[in-house]
Amino acid sequence: MSEIKVPNTPEALASAGCTRIAIGQHELPPLPYAYDALEPYIGRETVRIHHDLHHKSYVTGLNQAELELSRQRDASNFANNRYWEEQLAFNGSGHILHSIYWSNMAPPSVRKPEPERAMLAWIDLSFGSFEGMKGQLTAAAEQVQGSGWATLAWNPAWQRLEVLQVRRHENLTEWGAIPLLVVDVWEHAYYLDYQNRRGEYLKAWWNLVDWSDVGRRMALAMKSCVPLVK
Ligand code: MN
Repeated sequence: MSEIKVPNTPEALASAGCTRIAIGQHELPPLPYAYDALEPYIGRETVRIHHDLHHKSYVTGLNQAELELSRQRDASNFANNRYWEEQLAFNGSGHILHSIYWSNMAPPSVRKPEPERAMLAWIDLSFGSFEGMKGQLTAAAEQVQGSGWATLAWNPAWQRLEVLQVRRHENLTEWGAIPLLVVDVWEHAYYLDYQNRRGEYLKAWWNLVDWSDVGRRMALAMKSCVPLVK
């Protein structure tokens, strides 16, 4: 097998478009549009509270978990390890999913409303049709028990797209799956606008999906190829 070259320094990673974030140094990414940019589908107050308070709390929780885990390593005291590992998974996943959620959406006037042909071909190959994928993703989001998400993800292990349901932020995934398109169905994402009518929120959300962002994520995710076997 030919030698596999990997970027093995922070500088090389940065030139590949990735940034290393030091322990406890995560920051809330700014919202990529105005609070009211998603109206009439998602209201200003929902977006403001969701981004500035909810998303921020996951960033804070992630930093705290990382710093506590660092402290316990320094002290060689792992008595509370389970709790902080759970906080790491919950808040880290929450930060990741919310960051993708905001960037997946764009104001109706500027979003790209359809996938490009290459993306459509991968959707057809993976689900049979665009409508099949849309139906499965919508059903996954509608049927999450309690708080969670649904995601269209690239699975590098078998080189196909999949729809995965998510409970909380961190449960029901497949290891290695890379989320490309995510929809938040925690009540804080829609309750001010739709109360208990999650289906109406999901129907509205499809009007905000910016396929240029999903396609960009797909192109980057497809660079990841880690074969399961030697
Ligand atoms: Mn949320």
